[in-house]
Amino acid sequence: MTEIAKAHTRKDPAPRRAPPLIDPFARAISYLRVSVTDRCDFRCVYCMSEHMTFLPKADLLTLEELDRLCGAFIARGVRKLRLTGGEPLVRRGIMTLFGSLARHLDTGDLDELTLTTNGSQLPKYAAELAGLGVKRINVSLDTLDADKFRAITRWGELDKVIAGIDAAQAAGLHVKINAVALKGVNEDELEDLVRWAHGRGMDLTIIEVMPLGDVGEGRLDQYLPLSIVRARLSERLTLEEIDYRTGGPARYVRVAETGGRLGFITPLTHNFCESCNRVRLTCTGTLYMCLGQEDAADLRTPLRASEGNELLNAAIEDAIARKPKGHDFIIDRRHQRPALARHMSVTGG
Ligand code: SAM
Repeated sequence: MTEIAKAHTRKDPAPRRAPPLIDPFARAISYLRVSVTDRCDFRCVYCMSEHMTFLPKADLLTLEELDRLCGAFIARGVRKLRLTGGEPLVRRGIMTLFGSLARHLDTGDLDELTLTTNGSQLPKYAAELAGLGVKRINVSLDTLDADKFRAITRWGELDKVIAGIDAAQAAGLHVKINAVALKGVNEDELEDLVRWAHGRGMDLTIIEVMPLGDVGEGRLDQYLPLSIVRARLSERLTLEEIDYRTGGPARYVRVAETGGRLGFITPLTHNFCESCNRVRLTCTGTLYMCLGQEDAADLRTPLRASEGNELLNAAIEDAIARKPKGHDFIIDRRHQRPALARHMSVTGG
């Protein structure tokens, strides 16, 4: 047998993989959320102020740089990737990034590529996303009343979002609806939202408003604890405890009357950090190890400093070694200021 033939028949040792990212509390980091832009075509009252100052375009990572950063995390064991924002589908060329990231689904290195969107651009992109291997998406929708929708989003049109959901379902995407519970705004409508979402075969998750960024309104005015929402819903619906988990912070019940799943995300009334498996990257390459803490790591400098990933990997390891145990949001009369100055649109919700 020739040397070349021998080399071909010799069993190569398994390719050397970089070790997974484990934080100081023994949590493996398997989920990366990437805010690809801080811009959005809506101005939701709990998310942004009406007159936001956005980042200069020159500060943004290019799509190629975002792709390289995501690849570095995937090589270290990240198996789920969510693009968010701002509104991810308003970033110019975003489909190129989805197309490129989809290669990790083909190799089996990534289990899921997904996004969180306000739905406005889905009529344009849903079919393409499905074609690239996106299976499930989250659409944010807090009300089914067109006037209220306009009041909450300041700039949005309900019809367009519903058309986006229609397009997503027609393309075969599984849609989950996320609704933020807002005192005096949609609290009387949450049962309708449950019935509507479940009637269309969609899960619904209700989220407590978090004190992120100055939005020009007191948070106490917006904050509706989900303990109250749940108690009220259970007067009208049968909420059955189920084991279903998606690896995220939502705790699910099944609604007997509809057969659908209803999730609750309660960062304030119940802290869920013990099983946190995620980190968040902004469109400027800043890594936040916790949505509710200030500490962050600059990955743009090591990314740009060399073509190889050694410096970047070292910076990622360094950051994960500082991942805090959890957040400590409070909203009460004494704590009406934002817990953090940055808006959700920066870190990516
Ligand atoms: N534009 C996309 C969207 O609307 O889904 C993605 C980004 S948006 C920041 C992601 C999610 O964060 C949305 O469901 C939004 O309702 C939620 N969100 C924004 N600010 C929030 C806050 N202060 N508390 C709780 N949820 C918030």
